[in-house]
Amino acid sequence: MSTKPLYLYDSYLKEFEAKIQHATGNQVILDQTAFHPLTGGVAYDTGYLTKGNLKYKVMRVEINKDTKEIIHIIEEGADLNQGEFVKGILDWERRFKLMQLHTAAHILAAIMYRDYNALITGGQVDPEHAKLDFNLPRTDREIFEAAVEKATKEASKSIQLKIYFLARDEALRMPGVVKLAERMPPQEKELRIVEIPSIDLQADGGPHVKNTNEIGEIILLKIENKGKNQRRLYFDVK
Ligand SMILES: [Zn+2]
Repeated sequence: MSTKPLYLYDSYLKEFEAKIQHATGNQVILDQTAFHPLTGGVAYDTGYLTKGNLKYKVMRVEINKDTKEIIHIIEEGADLNQGEFVKGILDWERRFKLMQLHTAAHILAAIMYRDYNALITGGQVDPEHAKLDFNLPRTDREIFEAAVEKATKEASKSIQLKIYFLARDEALRMPGVVKLAERMPPQEKELRIVEIPSIDLQADGGPHVKNTNEIGEIILLKIENKGKNQRRLYFDVK
């Protein structure tokens, strides 16, 4: 039985209650969860599951792409059993940083495409930093410095994000809605659309900030050449 992914509907949900569907060893599957699994280029959440006075650390969260079950990997020796109710508590500092970096990544990718014709070929958002891969023949650092500066400026305009669901056919007719061919959304009836008005719009399942003014300043950490036309940009926010 699939897990209801609460994080798709509310990125700011920090605590929730759920029923244990399945518990084996250190793996727990709940009927619903706010813990974002490692998927879509965004890192997993950590935090706790509590039952009464008992509190167990959630070390890592994964998704079974076939069954849509979200698997919480918890610390060893937890007394959690099928049918019991637990409360989930996210490590909010970590999650919020992922949200800031993720929304910043969308803005940066949009600017790299708009101003430098650079297509994004991959990316990963981790709590320490985010990285984006671009198809770009030029290697000048100035391009990335300018793009990061522009992205910070866009973010400072306090743009309210719009997150909504659209019928799959309708969504796929919108230009640019799927930026990464290999991230073509799975065969679902509805797609979740993340829109940063006037900047970016795409089908996306990850957590984002509500307003771009929550991102702060975007900082270029380093640029790597990963082969012909492949540039990797590392950045952080503060
Ligand atoms: Zn995204």
